[in-house]
Amino acid sequence: MTRQKIVAGNWKMNKTLLEATQLTVELHEALGETSLPPHLQVVLCPPALYLEKIKSLLTLLHADHLAVGAQNCHQAANGAYTGEIAADMIASVGAQYVIIGHSERRAYYAETNDLLRDKTTAVLKAGLRVIFCCGENLDEREANRHTQVVAQQLRESLFDLEAAQWQHIAIAYEPVWAIGTGKTASPDQAQAMHQFIRQLIGEQYGKAVAEQTTLLYGGSCNAANADELFACPDIDGGLIGGASLKAKDFSTIIRAMK
Ligand code: PEP
Repeated sequence: MTRQKIVAGNWKMNKTLLEATQLTVELHEALGETSLPPHLQVVLCPPALYLEKIKSLLTLLHADHLAVGAQNCHQAANGAYTGEIAADMIASVGAQYVIIGHSERRAYYAETNDLLRDKTTAVLKAGLRVIFCCGENLDEREANRHTQVVAQQLRESLFDLEAAQWQHIAIAYEPVWAIGTGKTASPDQAQAMHQFIRQLIGEQYGKAVAEQTTLLYGGSCNAANADELFACPDIDGGLIGGASLKAKDFSTIIRAMK
C-alpha cells in the first residue's frame, strides 16, 4: 500500500493578496509540466482571507495537484465568536485541509490539547482533513522527555477518534526548537520520532491505521535538506514554513518527495 504523501506550505501571517497570488503563479510555473507522483498532495496554506482567491486561481491554472488549507479554525460550528472562522466556512470556499495545533498557536494563543481535540472534531465534521502538529520544545528535548511530550499531545487530542476517522488525519512532527530557527532535526532524530509516532498509533488503533497514516516533518526543512529527510522510511512529506514563501525553494522541496 502506498501511503499518501503531503508537502504543505504554511505561509503564516505573510504576503499581501498581490504577493500571495504572485507566489501561487510562480510556484505553478516552477513546477512546470513535471508530473508529480499521483500519491503526492501539495497543500498551500495562505492566510484565511485569501483562501477563496488562491483556490479560484489554482482552478483557473488547472493546478489540480495543488490543494488549499487553512492555518487554524474555531472549534464551534458557528456563533458569537467575533473574528473567528468556523470549519464549515473554510470548507465552503473550497479548502480541503486545516492545520491544527501549530506550536505558534499553542504558545501564543494558549491552545491546549483539550481545545485541539475539539478543533479536530470540528474540522472532521466539516468534511475537511486535519494536519495535526505536535512536537517538543528545547527544554523537553534536552531533558529527554520528547517522546513523552508528543505521546501526551497525541493521546489527549486524537486518541478519542474512531479508527475510520484517521484516514482524514495527517500528523506533522515539528520540534519547536527547529521551527524558524534554521536548526533542523537530523534525519535520524526525525525518523526516530516518526517511527515512535507510528508505533503509538499502531498500539492504539492497530497496524493498518498506523501504516496508512501520513506523517510529516516540519522545522527548518529547506531545499538543501528535504532530500535526506524525505528519504526516511516513516517521513511522508513535510510542513514547510519559511521555505514555502519562495517558489523556487518550495518547488525543489516538493520534487524531493518521491
Ligand atoms: C512551521 O512553522 O510549520 C515551520 C515548519 O516553519 P519553518 O519551516 O520556517 O521552520
